Amino acid sequence: MTTAHERWMGYALRLAQQAFDEDEVPVGALVVKDGQILGKGYNQIERLKDPTAHAEILAITAAANALESKVLEGCTLYVTLEPCPMCAYAIVLARVTTLVFGAYDPKAGACGTLLNIAEDVRFNHNPHVIPGVQDAECSGLLKEFFQKKRKVTQLSASSEISPEPFE
Ligand code: ZN
Repeated sequence: MTTAHERWMGYALRLAQQAFDEDEVPVGALVVKDGQILGKGYNQIERLKDPTAHAEILAITAAANALESKVLEGCTLYVTLEPCPMCAYAIVLARVTTLVFGAYDPKAGACGTLLNIAEDVRFNHNPHVIPGVQDAECSGLLKEFFQKKRKVTQLSASSEISPEPFE
């Protein structure tokens, strides 16, 4: 049986797939309150040429606009990848009640892996963190993306080093 958290994560995964299709690192996020989606987003760093255009930031901004409020009390943020330091602190600032994430991020995860900004009690708010929901599906999509990228890089690199003999 799939839980409500898994169902919403499935939705976040579809947003991540949209990022994948647009050649962005596949991360998707949504903000849910009382069973309703208030905001959603997927990574758009390349398209917007904006290093801060992470899925979580876009989803938080959309939800705050929808609520016409700077606080997201009673809201759950679902994201397919463990938030980075910037997003983890945005979650603290927005007073998100619950954070549910999928894949762990050993390189930049700031909700328990590399750092733990989300649960650092020195900040004046901490979301309740539920990690690793649909971990395999979320990390699988990321792995697929980076494998595809590496293949493209290798192909272009090898053609530079050893051009075809008839070129
Ligand atoms: Zn981030």
